[in-house]
Amino acid sequence: MEDEFAFISKITPDQTHQSSLVYGIGDDAAVYRGSSNMDEVVCVDTMVEGIHFRRDTLTPFQIGKKGLTINVSDLAAMGAIPFYYLVSVAVPPSWTEEELTEIYKGMDELAKQYNMDLIGGDTVSIDESLVLTVTVIGRVEQGKALYRSVAKAGDQVFVTGYVGKSAAGLDLLFEKGLNGEFNEKEQFLVNAHQVPIPHIAEGRILADSNKRISLNDVSDGVASEANELAKASDAKFVIEAVELPIHESMRSYSRDKQLKWALFGGEDFVLIGTVPKEHVNEIADEFQKKDLLFKVIGFVEEGPASVYLKESDQFKRLEKHGYNHFQKRG
Ligand code: ADP
Ligand code: MG
Repeated sequence: MEDEFAFISKITPDQTHQSSLVYGIGDDAAVYRGSSNMDEVVCVDTMVEGIHFRRDTLTPFQIGKKGLTINVSDLAAMGAIPFYYLVSVAVPPSWTEEELTEIYKGMDELAKQYNMDLIGGDTVSIDESLVLTVTVIGRVEQGKALYRSVAKAGDQVFVTGYVGKSAAGLDLLFEKGLNGEFNEKEQFLVNAHQVPIPHIAEGRILADSNKRISLNDVSDGVASEANELAKASDAKFVIEAVELPIHESMRSYSRDKQLKWALFGGEDFVLIGTVPKEHVNEIADEFQKKDLLFKVIGFVEEGPASVYLKESDQFKRLEKHGYNHFQKRG
């Protein structure tokens, strides 16, 4: 990069959205005003070129948009509203300033949808791979944040969207490349991988419901996220294979592939959680009013922290990244 100052001024937003912002980019640190009735929610994620993203499956614009989406999705999984983000980039010589600017355009496109402001960051050089670190700041009404640890036997397990489509799209991108020809169904899957949508509206419905809800976002696949919920709640989860919402764009693939993508693929960024059985209908109604998907996929039982997949009458232990031994229940 030729001139860091010129770059920073290029990516500094010329308008901001949040009234609580006092001072954004341009000083040693940003200043924003806190709120008396909201809790602050903050998280950070790092994406490394070649490990978390590849230039042969995502454009620079998509890398930026997805980098912010991943973080906004974590806010969604807490039931929070996004407000601000900060971006640290380590830039290798193989990236041009234009490509770097595209990353910021991608982030900005998502940020606009939520009135999020870019309020700071850091720019450094690195030898080989680009490293993009995004921090997001959100808020949730006091006492309404949704945690992983509150699931109990008798709860229903739900997801807020189709699962497996991002992994299916990634397989298509590996097969045909970034500029490959995709039919309509394939393009839907490719888009699911390249430009996933964070489930903020879904998280807000759940936070507003005031129910005992455990929640996580699906970044690593249903099996992995369900295991995190089961572990945090010390409960046994049963996922019913036939209940997993598989999008019709995936119907032409074998059932094995569909399940593998849905359970172990990841990056769908839908939400997975639990809710007491008696509140399922009420919550499903709220989702329906907003035309959003809410699908029960299983239930929670007494038992050691674990996840099982029920298919016909068979139970398989689901580990984070694969099936374990078959077992008959008894
Ligand atoms: P300092 O030396 O105080 O860290 P910098 O020159 O690194 O100052 O940054 C100047 C301003 O630009 C700060 O407000 C910082 O948050 C912002 N900034 C620097 N790099 C980035 C970046 N990559 N993305 C967004 N904002 C950035
Ligand atoms: Mg700095």
